[in-house]
Amino acid sequence: MVVIIDGKKIADEIMEGLKPRIQKLKKKNINPTLAIVLVGDNPSSKIYVTNKQKACEKTGISSNLYEFPENMKEEKLISLIQQLNNDKKIHGIIVQIPLPDHINENKILSLVSPEKDVDGLNPVNVGNLLIGDEHIVPCTPKGIIRMLEKMKIPVEKKNVVIINRSNIVGKPLAMMLTNRSATVTICHSKTKFLSQHTKKAEILITATGIPNMIKKDIVKEGTVIIDAGISYKDGKVYGDVDFENVKDMASYITPVPGGVGPMTVAMVLENTLILAENKK
Ligand code: NDP
Repeated sequence: MVVIIDGKKIADEIMEGLKPRIQKLKKKNINPTLAIVLVGDNPSSKIYVTNKQKACEKTGISSNLYEFPENMKEEKLISLIQQLNNDKKIHGIIVQIPLPDHINENKILSLVSPEKDVDGLNPVNVGNLLIGDEHIVPCTPKGIIRMLEKMKIPVEKKNVVIINRSNIVGKPLAMMLTNRSATVTICHSKTKFLSQHTKKAEILITATGIPNMIKKDIVKEGTVIIDAGISYKDGKVYGDVDFENVKDMASYITPVPGGVGPMTVAMVLENTLILAENKK
């Protein structure tokens, strides 16, 4: 019988658990504060930002939104990041990606101070993850690992297939799973014969953003399926997995919405809190 993983419930429990830590900081006159920088009007980004703001409000973390039009100059964004890095009242910074094409994303992410880098995308934090220090790691992979832990799904010795090689999902997730002794295969749009890999996956994690791409005939019976993909079509949200037809093949599966999304948000709050607690 398949278990549908309730990411929303796990995320709510995690956020509840953060509240006493937040109150403890407030008693010391530290008000954990997250700065969210949003450039342009990507509709998905706007939804992600709103979800993060709502979650902050629910737990008692302050959030400041810095919103700019698509044509914002790179220099202006650079000086904002520098200002936020120097602002003692700000404990965490998120630059919502994707950024507009005229802005060098890697350059901007590298400028976010590693001590305020909620998304774990500064090269210092990326490098730390590579050498096994997971102090601050990207929120979606962290949320997926936490979800597997909460569901008591072991990863050690497991064949894990990830369909995504982005800096924010696939690469850090592969590293975190490798740190936990899984055998990891990363697939992407240039992978030949994708199904040959997916059919061997004891844990299949997908984040392509292609609605219903993962069909029943390319998954192994009894596999764990984690669907991080999110796409919007005609006002409806879709995951990568053809959920209704695939779910009975799986031992565990995450729904979309209500799976990885809320876990990511919970990890945004947790990372902000860790950075606030560590503030020198
Ligand atoms: P990217 O576009 O960077 O990543 C998509 C990945 O899917 C790429 O590695 C791409 O390969 C791969 N891919 C695309 N088409 C195929 C295909 N036909 N076969 C195999 N692989 C394919 O986006 P992100 O990593 O930022 O996000 C990916 C998805 O995850 C999106 O739907 C996004 O909304 C969602 N997301 C969800 C989050 C959550 O909290 N649940 C958080 C972050 C993202 P290639 O590299 O070759 O292009």
